[in-house]
Amino acid sequence: MERRTSTLSIVSPMLNEQDGVDAFLTAVLDQCDSLDLESFEILIVDDGSTDRTPELLHSWTQRRSEVRVLTLSRNFGHQAAITAGVFNAVGDGVIVMDADLQDPPEVIPQMVERWRDGIDVAYGVRRTRDGDSWIKRTIAGIFYRLLRWLSDTDIPADAGDFRLMSRQVVDVLKAMPERDRYTRGLVAWSGFAQEPVYFDRPERFAGTTKYPVGKLMRLAMAGVVGFSDKPLFLTIGFGLGAMVLAVLGLIWVIVSTIFSWGEQIRGWTSMAVLLMFFSAVQLIFLGIVGIYISRIFVEAKHRPIYIVENDSRDN
Ligand code: UDP
Ligand code: MG
Repeated sequence: MERRTSTLSIVSPMLNEQDGVDAFLTAVLDQCDSLDLESFEILIVDDGSTDRTPELLHSWTQRRSEVRVLTLSRNFGHQAAITAGVFNAVGDGVIVMDADLQDPPEVIPQMVERWRDGIDVAYGVRRTRDGDSWIKRTIAGIFYRLLRWLSDTDIPADAGDFRLMSRQVVDVLKAMPERDRYTRGLVAWSGFAQEPVYFDRPERFAGTTKYPVGKLMRLAMAGVVGFSDKPLFLTIGFGLGAMVLAVLGLIWVIVSTIFSWGEQIRGWTSMAVLLMFFSAVQLIFLGIVGIYISRIFVEAKHRPIYIVENDSRDN
């Protein structure tokens, strides 16, 4: 088959991974060397590292011509770093994977196998994720399912950004100008032949997570806002429901007044509670609308998604 001798790019974002660089590159080079490819590149995107990661990467580029380093001008975040790598990769197939060995290099041959069979996207699905705390696992599990319910795009659950994409899919991604990117959603949205590859997600090889809760929330937000307008419709639905209740209440008040049932002065507490409740609901809904507007704002500014300071290939 034609893809048998094709070229492959491995794209990995790195932020302060000094204790994992050597193990990661050794493992990935091992896998790629054994794959019978025409050529390959390991494209590391240095997302503003401030530790020894850049030096270590530099020495790797001196030793192995397949290692290429794209240095961003500052920290742009995981999704922007992935985007930088995918946009600059030259391979006929592009694999995106984390650089902390939580996306196991042993899975690369399975993805390449699918690709050679003609599949356009082979995406990694986490069968287990022992490496993450149960709270993160639970929240992630709920989020993936919530997003599937909210979105019209069929975004697979329990899949991160670990995947192989054919050149055709990469070119579709490159043609999508959106700034606030939820890459796994964009790939799912593009269509083509997509298949899961199951793996067990181990613990981080070295160092600590670069994804604190705040960044995770932003990623989740990018997923929801980028792929669903259902929250906006839900607010309207809730408003209509509240209106029906209000009309029923009004009818009750009128009827009970006419027939002089009960004490008219009663009900202060319930009034206060209802007032507070609906004020809170209004604020939340205003916030939801605001989030969508802020997304429009970000997109309208048209700033670049990332800035490349240096590409080791050009040195
Ligand atoms: N990363 C990055 N920029 C960031 C945060 C993370 O390039 O702002 C990289 C990081 O070095 C790693 C990958 O993205 O290779 C995934 O991050 P991490 O392992 O910290 O996330 P987690 O697995 O804990 O969700
Ligand atoms: Mg990780």
